[in-house]
Amino acid sequence: METKEMICILCPLGCKMQVKEKTNQPGELSVRGQQCKLGVDYAYDEYANPTRTVTSTVVIQKAPLPRLPVKTSKPIPKDLVFQALDEIARVEVIGPVKIGDILIKDLLGTGSDLIATRSL
Ligand code: SF4
Repeated sequence: METKEMICILCPLGCKMQVKEKTNQPGELSVRGQQCKLGVDYAYDEYANPTRTVTSTVVIQKAPLPRLPVKTSKPIPKDLVFQALDEIARVEVIGPVKIGDILIKDLLGTGSDLIATRSL
């Protein structure tokens, strides 16, 4: 099995890890390079179902700034990130908006909402 290089993003140390599926043990991983157990959990999650929190901005009318920063309320599958960015690019809101306001509910059926990350 091929060894994958991964960087754990759970804390600022950013451990570089080498992750490989064990021979004759499908689903079991050999993980090296992590400095704590969280890295192993991260490697399993990233290996089976990589996800990302998406951050971006959307157009806002009637506000002191032209764009409103937004993010997904929780990580979404990595292979949906570009599709999500296309959806987000079509969003236009009218101020005022409060931090935490939901701009798109259940983005692409992921269970994650698109929310404002500042009041404007
Ligand atoms: S493995 Fe542990 S110490 Fe290393 S980056 Fe992840 S959380 Fe931080």
